Amino acid sequence: MRAVVVHAAKDLRVGEVKASAPGPREVAVRIEAGGICGSDLHYFHEGRIGTITLKEPMILGHEVAGIIESIGPGVTNLKLGDRVAVSPSRPCGACRFCREGQQIHCLDMRFYGSAMRFPHVQGAFRERLVADATQCHVVPESIPAGAAAMAEPLAVCLHAVNRAGPMLGKRVLVTGSGPIGALCALAARRAGAAEIVATDLTDAPGPLMLRVGADTFHNVARDAAALDGYATDKGYFDVVLEASGSDKALAAALPVVRPRGIIVQVGIGGVGSLPLNVIVAKEIDLRGTFRFHEEFALAVELIARRLVDVTPLITATLPFTEARAAFDLASDRQRAMKVQLSFA
Ligand code: ZN
Repeated sequence: MRAVVVHAAKDLRVGEVKASAPGPREVAVRIEAGGICGSDLHYFHEGRIGTITLKEPMILGHEVAGIIESIGPGVTNLKLGDRVAVSPSRPCGACRFCREGQQIHCLDMRFYGSAMRFPHVQGAFRERLVADATQCHVVPESIPAGAAAMAEPLAVCLHAVNRAGPMLGKRVLVTGSGPIGALCALAARRAGAAEIVATDLTDAPGPLMLRVGADTFHNVARDAAALDGYATDKGYFDVVLEASGSDKALAAALPVVRPRGIIVQVGIGGVGSLPLNVIVAKEIDLRGTFRFHEEFALAVELIARRLVDVTPLITATLPFTEARAAFDLASDRQRAMKVQLSFA
């Protein structure tokens, strides 16, 4: 079978990889759709994400959905032909953090398409994927595979909103309006936020942000003073979901978050500097959020029951054989939000 493999920075190839058959409690999934994530783009452009460096060829991809094609012994929750969203998260279940119910912090995590471990954990941009049955969440046949594949990034954002705590009636600032920012707005709206303001450094995502739940959108590159009014009386926002990964965006949020407000850092960035005196004096809670665990099932349910609509985010779907063009498109924020590969 064929797969989308990154060999080094700027070296992305569609190549043959070995197929295997499902073992006990495993299934083979014929992949239909796979979304290109920011982390896939980092491996493609830079051969690394921050300090995590690519050391051998790796199949990319961790946002996938497909059809159950064969079933190994002992699988009872799935049947042939089921359409499933596949969770890329595989905690060990045995380590200290797994036993404490903090699977996100598993000491032996095998998350698809990640170079964090060596040998790297191969990803899911492939024609067929053998997965544990427990990773597969069934969606109705009427849900397109592309929408099902959005369960993964939606789960990231549901976890980010969970990290922020109760959202009902809150005023929320979302900084960075890429796919994660958009899904954060969608998740915050679903969770009961009263008002959502979104920012970006371009105009392009504005209309989509308003469609998925933001009340207001500001291009803070064009209008640097756009947030100034929110700084009155020690700040306006109860919650900030920082989805750009930029320390500048984080620093710009400090004046507009109210005392004892909560900032959730969703975007991954490098090293930066912050005015610590503001964090101290306003008693701001600065929280990280990483991936998801139980939120994957919730994301699938919200999509399956059409309680959220993720489809406006899908800008384009290209055949996986044109992966290079798809990655180039996904890298162009003027033209693309979420780009998916089709494997049909
Ligand atoms: Zn573990």
